[in-house]
Amino acid sequence: MDEEILKKFRKAGEISGRARDYGIRMIAEGVKYVEVAEAVEEYIYDHGADLAFPVNIAVNHVAAHYTPTSKDRKRFQYGDVVKLDVGAHIDGCIGDTAATVEVGSSAWGLLIDSSRTALRQVLSIMRPGISLGRIGAEVEKTITSYGFRPIVNLTGHSIDVYKLHGGYSIPNYDNHNPLRIKKGMIIAIEPFATSGIGSVSSQGSSNIYRFLKIKKGLKPDYLQKAREIEEARKGLPFSSRWFMKKIGGDERVLRRLVLKGVLYSYPILVEEKGGIVAQWEHTVYVTDDGVDVLTGREV
Ligand code: MN
Ligand code: MN
Repeated sequence: MDEEILKKFRKAGEISGRARDYGIRMIAEGVKYVEVAEAVEEYIYDHGADLAFPVNIAVNHVAAHYTPTSKDRKRFQYGDVVKLDVGAHIDGCIGDTAATVEVGSSAWGLLIDSSRTALRQVLSIMRPGISLGRIGAEVEKTITSYGFRPIVNLTGHSIDVYKLHGGYSIPNYDNHNPLRIKKGMIIAIEPFATSGIGSVSSQGSSNIYRFLKIKKGLKPDYLQKAREIEEARKGLPFSSRWFMKKIGGDERVLRRLVLKGVLYSYPILVEEKGGIVAQWEHTVYVTDDGVDVLTGREV
């Protein structure tokens, strides 16, 4: 990989990791979700990076893909299991990282540990030549040893410039995929553990959007907004909060653009049987004989 590009991945990774820790420290009983999301996003901007995606806050049985709107009134409650998933990028070089915290109580300590340990285990065995199935097996073995299940339809992923999900999906169970990790790859590892069945399904809108394509017959003002989104995000996800601040316009514009097929609206992903979900994630660079963790040392 080009040295300049790698430097940007390192910088974006460092900022993502610090932003994650900053956000985790803010999470407490009574604090609004939107306060945390906005503070973490400000932190990323203030440190010279852009958002790779909106700050994701997924609570309890919500596994992934939720970001509050500016009017969201939800507050963290005692006993909540909160996943904070943070992404910063510099010129498309992305850091993607997540951690889980329980608000006030410690009823789910083992669940949280199981995904954290799974991540740690994977980091210790990752090197060029290891197969994707072998990585998944390590996650599965670790999480099941705690008496929980890995979520089989959520995966880690390779990362390319301006591409959050590159060509490789990193399974959280042994899917026997023989594809091998190569030196120089940027990979996000994210074991999800649950007390439920181990599968997620879609439920409602996440307030996360992505540009798809310009469509014929758009009214000029909608066309203008669509082009501005395309130019500013280059295919990376965004929220209505970002849209209102950086482009201008209300949620009706977004809904209209989704209806027209210009934008994709991500669904919220919830555990199918209502199980509690924990997630830890790091972005790594694959070296000659292992990996460099780019998103901080907190595991
Ligand atoms: Mn993530
Ligand atoms: Mn990820």
